[in-house]
Amino acid sequence: MLVMGLRARLALFFIAITVIPLAVAVIVLQLQLSERLDNVAQRELIASAAASRTAADAFRARAADLATDVAETNAARVLTSGDAAAAERVVTRRLRAPNDRAQILVMADSDGRILGSHFAAPRFADGRSGTVPSDEELAAALKGGEDITGALLEVREVMRPSRRRLGWVAAGIWADQGLLERLPYPGGGAVVVDGEVLAASDPAVAEGSADDLPAPGEIAQLRLAGTSVKATTVALGDEDGARLLLWHTAAPPLRLPGALLGLLVPAVLLAAAVGWVLASGVVAPVERAARVARSVAAGDLDQTLEPSGGRELGALAGALNTMSAELRERLAQLEASRDQLRQSLSRLGQTLSSSLDLDRTLAVVVETAIETLSANRGLLWLFTPERDALYVKVGRGVGQTVARLPVGSGLAGHVARVGVAFRIPADGDSVPFPSDDEPSAPHKLAVPMVGRGRVLGVLTILGDDPERPFSQDDLDTLRSFAAQASVAMENVMLHREAQRLSVTDPLTVLWNFRYFQLQADREMESAARFERPLSLLIIDLDHFKTVNDRFGHQVGDDVLVEVARRIQAATRVPDVVARYGGEEFVVLLPGTGLAGAVSTSERIRAAVSASKVTITTARDVAPLSVTCSIGVAEHPRHGTTVAGLLRSADAAMYLAKTQGRDRVVGAGIDDSSVGGPVGGGEAARR
Ligand code: GH3
Ligand code: MG
Ligand code: MG
Repeated sequence: MLVMGLRARLALFFIAITVIPLAVAVIVLQLQLSERLDNVAQRELIASAAASRTAADAFRARAADLATDVAETNAARVLTSGDAAAAERVVTRRLRAPNDRAQILVMADSDGRILGSHFAAPRFADGRSGTVPSDEELAAALKGGEDITGALLEVREVMRPSRRRLGWVAAGIWADQGLLERLPYPGGGAVVVDGEVLAASDPAVAEGSADDLPAPGEIAQLRLAGTSVKATTVALGDEDGARLLLWHTAAPPLRLPGALLGLLVPAVLLAAAVGWVLASGVVAPVERAARVARSVAAGDLDQTLEPSGGRELGALAGALNTMSAELRERLAQLEASRDQLRQSLSRLGQTLSSSLDLDRTLAVVVETAIETLSANRGLLWLFTPERDALYVKVGRGVGQTVARLPVGSGLAGHVARVGVAFRIPADGDSVPFPSDDEPSAPHKLAVPMVGRGRVLGVLTILGDDPERPFSQDDLDTLRSFAAQASVAMENVMLHREAQRLSVTDPLTVLWNFRYFQLQADREMESAARFERPLSLLIIDLDHFKTVNDRFGHQVGDDVLVEVARRIQAATRVPDVVARYGGEEFVVLLPGTGLAGAVSTSERIRAAVSASKVTITTARDVAPLSVTCSIGVAEHPRHGTTVAGLLRSADAAMYLAKTQGRDRVVGAGIDDSSVGGPVGGGEAARR
């Protein structure tokens, strides 16, 4: 199928609406004009025929008058005398006298002998001019009424008073070119006798013959010398004699195809040009609109359209502009919210990756959730250690909050119990009954923070604008956000736990020795730099083997836990208390010199032994007295490295053991020679 452009179709349409009425008009006009021309020609022919007939009759009437006159005045005398010369004189004189009366005058005796005749030479077509009839022809015409070709004769008998015939007189005119010229005819005329053209206005007609002529008074279409004409005839003499043929050379009827072509071709061209121009006016804005729509579809939303091309196309342009403006705005909104989300997430990511601080992580989770949902307030609930209630870990815009919200109570308590997200006001029934212990708001979202199938906490977001409820989309967003945050939160918790495990002793929950070493290195460095005192103690329980032996290892462990607690309680915050291994502990005392360290050691020793440790055995619960021996060393006097200090303190502690246990020995205190017993103690220990 031929696919036509709008422009071509519109141009065709213009051609059609121009040409079809034009063609119809031309055809109708053509028909009317032909009819008019026909009518005019017909009327003219009829009028001319009548006038010609009248004129011809007048000419003949004059000839008849002459014939009568001659017959009545001169003929009797001349015919009676039979004098041919006299007859010749009479006819010549009478014919010449008023020379327009007739062209032929003949006198004959009763025997038909021509006594006198006179002729004006006729002008016939095709060389018959100058031909005059013979005496025999004339006699036949006078006596028997025979026709003489081209002559219109009026014959009179000449009689004696005795009614005896004396002879004839005939006068006439020629039906020749001369007569034709004196008759009126509209287009053309000819004198025709028995199909022979004697005279004609047109030489081409004069050369031919004319058969099948219309009867006088009748109008017919005739072909003359190759042309179709309207024609009629007039009888010049007798009915079957010479006839005048009249025709009308009206303008030839317009030839329809030619006329149509002549009019239609320019009309078509003009209509096509106008159509093309008008169509361009219509099509150009449409094409522009299509171009802009394509650009918009390709993502170029800055394209706009000048409203042109009339009301409807202007409206189209307007709609297109509105659409791209709307799209631009939507895109800007989307980009803005995407940027916001991206910012939020990157901030969250940064925080989560940079910080293993749970408080900060949870604060960022709440703030990001509020921001992402364009909400007003939010809070994050965590379980109490007993997991029977929630407490607010992070609150934003909620002011003073309740300390405890029992699990199952209110929205957050319900979510904590069932582990399912909720939207308030929500569609559906099982809406948890609100609790007075929760902050109230017209719109709420609450999602569980779930890690490894366990609810870790509840994130609640509050919307204060009554006109702007949260949507299901908001809930879904918060849910997926909470899922990510939960992972982060769990990571932080795990990390914290792992870290705790890596630096603490699982039994006594004191620092482990690895951690102690790190801290000791750091403290020693700063003590050296700032010349600050630093001391180190080693504590070893006395005869601990017997505790194990008597009550078993479990009881031994219980005793270790209790002793650890007592040591911890007897130290200050900056002091670092760690389990050295087995039933030995180390304590680092930053900012404390040997004397201070000895007195701290005394305090520890007293705390350990002050009261008996209650032990629970398989059989009963009994008090057990526990003592310890403590060795003290000072930096840098007894060592400039952690290992060196440890060796000195260990030696002092060994000394305490040898001196009877349950005592404190400072390195080098009981021996004035610096380093002596320390070195010895150290060697003995190893
Ligand atoms: P001394 O007064 O000389 O220190 O006598 P002691 O029995 O305490 O001797 P020593 O310090 O050499 O012995 C350590 C004992 O402590 C060995 C072991 O039975 C006990 N012990 C070490 N670590 C643990 C522990 O983690 N739990 C328990 N229950 N006992 C431990
Ligand atoms: Mg020991
Ligand atoms: Mg011991």
